[in-house]
Amino acid sequence: MCGIFGVQGHGEASNLTYLGLYSMQHRGQESAGIASTDGEQIYRIRKPKLVSDAFSQHSFQILKGRSSIGHVRYSTTGDGGMSNVQPFSVETDIGKISIVHNGNLTNYAEIKKELIQSGAILQATTDTEVILHLIARSNKATLLERIYECFEKIQGAYSLLFLTPQELIATRDPLGIRPLCMGQLKTGQYVFSSETCAFDLIGAKYIRDVEPGEVVIVDKDNNLSSSTFSKNKKRASCIFEHIYFSRPDSKVFSSSAYIVRKNLGRQLAKEHPLKADYVISVPDSGNYAALGYSEQSGIPFEFGFIRNHYVGRTFIEPKQSIRGFGVKVKLNPVSMILEGKDLIVVDDSIVRGTTSKKIVKMLKDAGAGKVHMMISSPPFKSPCYYGIDTPNKAELLASHMSLEEIKDFIGADSVSYLSEEGMYSSLQQGQKNNFCDACFTANYPVKPSQV
Ligand code: AMP
Repeated sequence: MCGIFGVQGHGEASNLTYLGLYSMQHRGQESAGIASTDGEQIYRIRKPKLVSDAFSQHSFQILKGRSSIGHVRYSTTGDGGMSNVQPFSVETDIGKISIVHNGNLTNYAEIKKELIQSGAILQATTDTEVILHLIARSNKATLLERIYECFEKIQGAYSLLFLTPQELIATRDPLGIRPLCMGQLKTGQYVFSSETCAFDLIGAKYIRDVEPGEVVIVDKDNNLSSSTFSKNKKRASCIFEHIYFSRPDSKVFSSSAYIVRKNLGRQLAKEHPLKADYVISVPDSGNYAALGYSEQSGIPFEFGFIRNHYVGRTFIEPKQSIRGFGVKVKLNPVSMILEGKDLIVVDDSIVRGTTSKKIVKMLKDAGAGKVHMMISSPPFKSPCYYGIDTPNKAELLASHMSLEEIKDFIGADSVSYLSEEGMYSSLQQGQKNNFCDACFTANYPVKPSQV
């Protein structure tokens, strides 16, 4: 997962991009970068740091100009080294181009091989770089034509922003796997962001999503034009954005993540009514579904864990050793509340089982009675090839364990998951066919080369 942001034609462009990225830090904590243009040069700062550490007041003197794009990175392809930190920039025969990407190309390995065989020198180990190579090598006259040509070759998930000295271009893959929203500042300039929470921070209004297969161009004078490179009507937006990834105060694929998560919790209570003293959540990811479960069941909600907000998301650290340690640092059970109480513990998902196992142990150590784990999504069984860091099927608990085995592994008194139908009934009506749920069903909308 990554977060991208762009703004065209504003005197404080790089500052706004910084704020946009700041609000999307949850989408990637490995690195942050901003590129800007003054209509001639492209300026760039990229650091393997959090947004707040990557930039200073001095950065905005370097990041000159009225147009800017930015990126926060959570690596899926490629390692976390500096050569993979976005934005990427190149000088081509049709001018300078910078790019930021949220998603994952499923045919990256094939394209990379072809490029290397034809003499390309690749510097990064990430899929975004090949997009720039395909564009730079094209014989077409305009960037738009080159983008169209490139999109005929690449497959998978890509929400992209291109910055040139003249234009800002926003586009999404034909299935709309990753989000990309369009907004407008009070002063009229267009802004683009992975999530609408960035618009709230900078006082921009959400207009609409960039449509799957759409290319939106905003020129220097703020004129907007749009075209569609794919007539494909099928959509496959990532259901996991609703379940976990997006900030709850964001609109995701035009629906409120907060409301959807609460509905998921309500539905969970309908499907798995259990007796307990309290409903508690695994903060922060389980908060909204836990509230829904509590409201539906009438069982009071309590804050069973207090979160240390100065520790980053545990899962996002690539190494298992760091992850295991992270949960203990991050969450502390409130034993004074929990002692002797039977609990319904709500979280959004079990992936490797690291979190749930530790949560259950902490609760039992704190003196809790029965601990019932309730998961507000179906069993996570299959790797995602479209931008979520779960490449190895063997690591996914539900891919090789029965419900009973999962219960024993995490040490809970029971484990319950939401059904697929229940998940879809929590979304707006009729949306089922618009989502990719491959992590739960293995129905991959674009065949990944690994499968
Ligand atoms: P695990 O501990 O491996 O079972 O991961 C599940 C926990 O991580 C849950 O608390 C989720 O909120 C969170 N989570 C689920 N998927 C992801 C992801 N792709 N990246 C980061 N955290 C995740």
